[in-house]
Amino acid sequence: MVKKLVINTEWCKGCGICAAFCPKEVLAVVKEKVTIVDKSKCILCGQCEQRCPDYAIYIKECEE
Ligand code: SF4
Ligand code: SF4
Repeated sequence: MVKKLVINTEWCKGCGICAAFCPKEVLAVVKEKVTIVDKSKCILCGQCEQRCPDYAIYIKECEE
């Protein structure tokens, strides 16, 4: 099972909470939406998912 960081841009309101809590500086708000700046730094810790008030960022488990 592969884990992947997913952003739902329709739900993201660009508050930046997830970016503030990310311990690896993976995320940044660009034009009022959060974006992945450096995917390679992500440790899939789930902090962003836990802190987002809008369920707009989450870790998804994929089959491959
Ligand atoms: S899973 Fe952790 S390291 Fe990855 S973007 Fe979210 S808070 Fe940052
Ligand atoms: S915490 Fe949620 S709503 Fe706020 S910027 Fe991050 S993904 Fe978007």
